Amino acid sequence: MKPLQNYLDGKFQEAREGGTREYLNPLDNSVLGVATESKQEDADAAIAAARKAFDEGPWPWTPAVERAAKLFKLADLIDSNAEEFARRETLNNGKPLREAKYDAADAAACFRYYAGLATKPHGQTYEVGDPNVLAQSVREPIGVCGQIIPWNYPLLMASWKLAPGLAAGNCCILKPSELTPWSAQLLFELIDEVGFPPGAAQLLYGAGDPAGMALAASDWVDKIAFTGGTATGRKIMQAAVGNLKRVTLELGGKSPVIVFADVDPDVALEHAMWAIFAGQGEVCNAGSRLFLERSIAEEFLSRLAVASGNVVVGDGMNEDTEMGPLITRAHQKKVLDLIESGKQEGAELLCGGSAYTDARASGNFVQPTVFANAPAHARIVREEIFGPVLVAEVFDTEDEAVARANDTIYGLAGAVFTKDGARAQRVIRRMRAGITWINTFHLTFAEAPWGGYKQSGFGRELGTYGYESYTEVKQINTHLNPQRIGWFKNLS
Ligand code: NAD
Repeated sequence: MKPLQNYLDGKFQEAREGGTREYLNPLDNSVLGVATESKQEDADAAIAAARKAFDEGPWPWTPAVERAAKLFKLADLIDSNAEEFARRETLNNGKPLREAKYDAADAAACFRYYAGLATKPHGQTYEVGDPNVLAQSVREPIGVCGQIIPWNYPLLMASWKLAPGLAAGNCCILKPSELTPWSAQLLFELIDEVGFPPGAAQLLYGAGDPAGMALAASDWVDKIAFTGGTATGRKIMQAAVGNLKRVTLELGGKSPVIVFADVDPDVALEHAMWAIFAGQGEVCNAGSRLFLERSIAEEFLSRLAVASGNVVVGDGMNEDTEMGPLITRAHQKKVLDLIESGKQEGAELLCGGSAYTDARASGNFVQPTVFANAPAHARIVREEIFGPVLVAEVFDTEDEAVARANDTIYGLAGAVFTKDGARAQRVIRRMRAGITWINTFHLTFAEAPWGGYKQSGFGRELGTYGYESYTEVKQINTHLNPQRIGWFKNLS
């Protein structure tokens, strides 16, 4: 079986030691293929090529309009390969095909947005106290950027990182998750077709440690952009202190959805389910805690339990599938263990709560699961489960809803559902989270900033913030009338 290859210094190639790792279909854990498995010396080669491409050029000083043209072309190629991207994402990640199609379209949109942004004004001029001085700031690329991404949105996370990094003139090394390497190969085939200078965009397959850690720890890497688990984020931050490289972290969440009694119940119910069951709940911003105003709670919960039990769970390649399998057996076990802990700690299981015993037993499926009446200290209330498990709670007042929603170490996302516009704004402004929605959920746009408060990370991706996070700001002061300053009398 020919392995997926690294793309280093403008060439597809296998890892120097020649090791490989299988990647699987979570539908039945069958082997889809193998990917080359990089070690420290492969990471070193990628870093050296990126260093050369950045320090000697031409990518960082390629005119922005030319960088943009390449990114526009890449966006078009992603569009024309969208079906194959979606197929690979569904087979390798498990998510339903209809979600994977959105990912492919969003990836193209992300490259297109940053292609456009590359040519927009980024500097400023300043009115300073000396009329003879022109004070300016310009934005410049940071340098060599290591980009480490997770398995839940393989293509989309690659796009969120490569598009702004390349648009701003950085030389980027993408390290996909070892669990979902497949779509990145196609992306880099298209990158090769577009023709970026060698070393500008590179693909490094391999495990978090050593391949990802080699990027995080290298003195020759100027920035690490990471999306993944909070524990890994901490390790990356520690590794990055050596050369004080720039770090942005997109980590986990435990995001609240607050529903007031005045809502259209069908709208709120469907959104509450979408918030947690989209992507099998393996979504950093998943709405995993549902807060219901007491007067509607009983009716809402009984409908939620029935509707959650009716979610069509199965093969993501079927058009009518609404939820697929989890990524691995190990992750399925972790989610089932957390469900078990919820039962042990006294939460009331309203629906789901196990794996399947039918044909789906060969895959990593977990039933859509809803708990209520969990004690505040329960693990299912406090920990990110990263699976289709919703914990519902009941509140009496707006203040109580906000306080309990904020009672978490995370601060990635949150939503409120109400027809009272002033209350919606009040609640959202008090919510300690970086991504919020009023009367909707999950909506994400390349144009708008994405990132978390608290232990959900720091830095922002997407939008102009995402571009700026791939730049350094330089101050330039130009004297318009150079003359002696008279500080030193004797210049001979
Ligand atoms: P992870 O953090 O272990 O992996 C994410 C990426 O980091 C992968 O590319 C991995 O190879 C790499 N990595 C792992 N250890 C590393 C290290 N020491 N140095 C450098 N890179 C390293 O996440 P995971 O194992 O895929 O999932 C674990 C948990 O992370 C999940 O259960 C979930 O809670 C969370 N998660 C969050 C997101 C998100 O979007 N915020 C995505 C995936 C997983």
